Order: sequence, then C-alpha cells, then structure tokens
Amino acid sequence: MKNISILGATGSIGRNTLDLIQRERDKLKVVGLTGANNIRLLAESAIKFNADIVATSNDNKFHDLKEMLSGHQVEVCAGINGVLEVASRQVDWVMSSIVGSAGLLPGLKALEAGANLALANKESMVAAGPIMKRAAEAQGVKLIPVDSEHSAISQVIRGEERDSLSKIIITASGGAFRNLTISELIDVTPEQASKHPNWNMGQRITIDSASLFNKALEVIEAKEFFGLKASEIEVLIHPQSLVHAIACFCDGGMKAHIGPSDMRHAIAYALYEEKRFNLPLEEVDLSKVGTLDFEKPDLLKYPALKLGFDVLEQGGLAGAAFNAAKEEALDNFLDHKLSFLGMADVVRATMDELSSKNQLSSEVELEAVIDIDRQARLIAKIFVDKF
Ligand code: NDP
Ligand code: MG
Repeated sequence: MKNISILGATGSIGRNTLDLIQRERDKLKVVGLTGANNIRLLAESAIKFNADIVATSNDNKFHDLKEMLSGHQVEVCAGINGVLEVASRQVDWVMSSIVGSAGLLPGLKALEAGANLALANKESMVAAGPIMKRAAEAQGVKLIPVDSEHSAISQVIRGEERDSLSKIIITASGGAFRNLTISELIDVTPEQASKHPNWNMGQRITIDSASLFNKALEVIEAKEFFGLKASEIEVLIHPQSLVHAIACFCDGGMKAHIGPSDMRHAIAYALYEEKRFNLPLEEVDLSKVGTLDFEKPDLLKYPALKLGFDVLEQGGLAGAAFNAAKEEALDNFLDHKLSFLGMADVVRATMDELSSKNQLSSEVELEAVIDIDRQARLIAKIFVDKF
C-alpha cells in the first residue's frame, strides 16, 4: 500500500489527484488532506477516502469542518500549523498543490518528513528551488515535477546524456487573450482573463497563463528542476496545447512530448514515479488536429516573459521577490485596482527597486526568502497606486 497526502486537495490539481487515487483504492491509501475555504469538499473527500487527518488553512473554518466530520474517525486541525501537521505525517508520496507561496512551507515540511514530493506548486521552486532540492537530497527522496511542461521535459530527456542536450523548448498556449493586440489588452477584466481556451485550472494560474506570468515562473522552474541556463530555454506560443516540451540535441535531433490537455496525465506520471499508468483519457487524434502551430512570443505584448528570463539570470533571491510581487499584483488585478498590463509594470518596478538596493543577491536560505517575500509585497503595494 502506498500512503499518500494531498496538500491543496480541494483545488483543481488536488481533485484530479483524488480522481486517480479513486481508480486504485486497493493500492493507494489517503492519509492526509488539506484545503482552505472549500471545507464541504474537504469533508466529503476525507469521508470518501477515509483519511486519517485533515486540515483547513483557514482557522475560522475549524468548527464547521469539525462538525461536518463528527462521527467519523478523522483528526481535524486548522491554520498554517494544521496544514504543517498534515504535511509532516510520514507517508510515501505527497502532492504539493496549494496555490501560491503558501505552498512553500508545507511542501518543504513534507520533504523533511521523508516523502517523495510531487510538485505542482511551482511557486516553491521559483522562490526557493535550492532549499527544496537540498531538503530532497538530505532525505534521499524524489522531487517530481507535475507542471505539464516539466513533466514533459522529464519524459523527453529520460535516457539521454545531459551533455547532448542543447536546448529545451516549452510551449505556452497564449491563454485567454492570444488573439488580442496590445491596445486591446488595456481594458481586459479579471473575469475575461479567467477563461482559458484549452485547460481547466484554478483562477490564479489561468490569469497567469493569459499574461504569461505563468510561463515566466515556468522558465525559472525549468532552471531549478533541470539545471538549465537562460540560453538553453526557449518559449514558443503553441495554441493547440498538445506539444508541451521539446528537447533539442547536439546532433540536430529533437524529441517532442505530445499529450492531452488533461493534468491527470502529468499527475499520474508523478504518482507512479515515472512509470506509465493506463489512463482512460481520449487519445489525441493528430489527423483531426491537422496542424500544430508554433510562433515566437511578442515580448512587448507579454512583458512578464522577459521579466522571467531576467530573474532566471539574476538568481539568488530574485525568484522569491518576483513571485511575491507577481502575487501582490495579481491580487490587485483581481480587486480591479490594477490593470492587466499594469501587473508587469508593478513587478518590474518592484524588482528594480530591490535590485538597486542590492537586496536580491543573498544566498537562498529560508529566512531570507521569507523576508524578501514580505519586502517585495510591501513595495509592490506602493507601486500599485502609481500604475
Ligand atoms: P486551485 O486554486 O484550484 O487550488 C488551490 C488549492 O490550495 C485549494 O485546495 C485551496 O483550498 C488551497 N489554498 C488556497 N489558499 C491557500 C492557503 N493560503 N493555504 C493553504 N491552502 C490554500 O489551484 P490549482 O489546483 O489550479 O493550482 C495549484 C498549484 O498547482 C499552483 O501552484 C499552480 O500553479 C499549479 N499548477 C496547476 C495546474 C492546473 O492545471 N490547475 C497546472 C500546473 C501547475 P480551497 O479551494 O479549499 O480554498
Ligand atoms: Mg504548466
């Protein structure tokens, strides 16, 4: 029996993970589940999967969650400490699928407790990749990518020598506004940005896909997972979202990963630790798809992507600051206090301010990451009023 916990079980990735577990209940045992506000789904999942422990990160929801689970043999806890308690339970495999930097400490705790960590929460790799990798190494456990592009990279480079790899291409669908011009982007709303043409995901990553902030995070994530330099990563817009990554080799050969726009493919690859699982997903029918298009992204239309490459080159604490400033900018866009294009302006200004004070070059240690995250949010808040 493989013991499993899911951090962020009520979200899009968490629900997809439970869907896979449901298919193999005789081999997979759910130990812990966490959520935040959707405690009804959290309670239903805890009952359905017979979990040992659940936590809501929202202290105010503790009593309601406890009531929903009364009469069931399950430990209930709340707050960040409750989530960390779930993360520290000894299991074989943990899905890290909390959204945003709130996923960093729980994911780290799970690694420290000796679990193999499937990492959907890209923010923890962007902010603290070296810390995550050190923790995995110290415990001798695996850190497995779940992001579709990174899962695809691990699939295409498998069995190849690192020296023979010259470049990785990751694709971006272009999100909700792929066909809009820059001037048409000025007035777009959070509601419009929340509709992804190909993927069904949480709201924040959907908006980040429209701005390409998601792709910016992903190039940094690719550097951390696969030790790639900026010059070894290329992003292409690929509207069909079928080719997720392409490895380019020194002999001119290229290996592309084609997969369905369904995260259960990448989650299953992580769940079965790089073995293939028989998933009843609809096969991609290339004769129906007909054409696969690729084009270079317009960096004027997608300034976030340029910022992501700058952050990748900068290293140090730049990733943590970038992610925090981006989260603050996104909160303000969602509150209609900042325009869609204003998000990149705020993040760039925040990064410039922190760089000019020489705040980003320190070693990536946990205390420094938490501190720069706090500083970046404060500075970004000030810039929101200026843009
Ligand atoms: P969702 O918004 O759908 O789910 C987020 C999960 O995190 C929910 O369980 C939510 O609880 C919980 N949560 C929210 N805030 C907090 C907090 N402060 N503390 C603890 N838990 C919290 O997000 P997604 O599933 O779409 O994304 C999860 C992660 O996976 C992100 O890092 C995203 O970038 C990454 N990812 C997602 C993909 C996708 O297809 N969705 C693809 C690739 C990567 P509740 O719902 O109960 O409030
Ligand atoms: Mg992705």
